[in-house]
Amino acid sequence: MIFLSPPHMSGKELEYIEDVFKSNYIAPVGEYLDKFENKIKEYCNISNALGVINATSALHLALRVLGIGKDDIVLSSTFTFIGSVAPILYVGAKPVFIDSDKSWNLSSKLLEEALKKLPKKPKALIVTHLYGQMADIEQIVKICKEHNIYLIEDAAESLGATYNKKQSGTFGDFGVYSFNGNKILTTSGGGMLVSKNKEWIEKARFLATQAKEDALYYQHQEFGYNYRLSNVLAAIGIAQMEVLDERIAKTREIFRWYKEQLQDIQEIEFMPELPDSFGNRWLTTVTLKKSDPFKLVQKLQENGIEARPLWKPMHLQPLFENEQSFLNGVSEDLFNRGLCLPTPTNSSFNELEKVIKVIKKYVS
Ligand SMILES: *Cc1c(COP(=O)(O)O)cnc(C)c1O
Repeated sequence: MIFLSPPHMSGKELEYIEDVFKSNYIAPVGEYLDKFENKIKEYCNISNALGVINATSALHLALRVLGIGKDDIVLSSTFTFIGSVAPILYVGAKPVFIDSDKSWNLSSKLLEEALKKLPKKPKALIVTHLYGQMADIEQIVKICKEHNIYLIEDAAESLGATYNKKQSGTFGDFGVYSFNGNKILTTSGGGMLVSKNKEWIEKARFLATQAKEDALYYQHQEFGYNYRLSNVLAAIGIAQMEVLDERIAKTREIFRWYKEQLQDIQEIEFMPELPDSFGNRWLTTVTLKKSDPFKLVQKLQENGIEARPLWKPMHLQPLFENEQSFLNGVSEDLFNRGLCLPTPTNSSFNELEKVIKVIKKYVS
């Protein structure tokens, strides 16, 4: 079986986990969690970080810290994964979806239109950097500042991606990264919330540990969550961070390899990369001009190759049929024509040749 994006260990994980066990700080927090947060701060050049159980909980904390609640409007990319959007529902707010531009990510033009037309001012925007590709982030930052709305970056898929050399996740008020099993790095499950604002991260830390007030006994003024990452998983994270650049070099190499192998097939187009940006190419994603991508996904799966359709846009989900959207047809068209190809950094190109064979047979 060839997997889409399997975990790929560096080899140091067990050594660090053993260290954690020797210290007996297997839970709840400990030195490795601090170290993991520091690694992210250093790598991403951001002053504050909080390790949590996943990126979805990190987004939830961001919304809580910003005081977003019942009936507030939160703008969001429509072309994204549900984990990006569900936290809006957790706090009782209303999502409004914005379609994509040629980068496949949120259209800044439609964002401006939404801000002009909505009768009520949104409180925040959650923008996703899809498949490790940067959104038009400098423009988006500018618009959010002009309209005085908070910006949260869903960088769950884009750890290590940059725009003008600045890391994804560090442009907005908050950024989140995911270390879920299928992401470019994994701690089996995990996430990180980052911000320039120290007070906000401290507030998130408080909410993530059951909102225990500073008292001898258990005192509560507001409710929180049990969202902190375990020290054991943080140890995996340290070992994974050591190979992040290597992993990105490999996913980008896989992208170039697919492009070369499939260059003669007019039918296939690849996800673009914005000028001035550097994507981590977490997954190689393509669109087909005429053939049915869903059938190709099936054909690949029948041949022991894990492939997936692109994310189904949120405005097309039954869950959101009553929500408002600002659309231009781009994400729906991409969804109808696109698919994700396996991008396993621990496979050889020899193994991946099987993928090329199945695609060529199907498309010709
Ligand atoms: C994976 C993912 C999430 C959720 O991350 P978890 O760590 O699994 O909670 C959120 N948004 C996007 C775009 C993702 O791909």
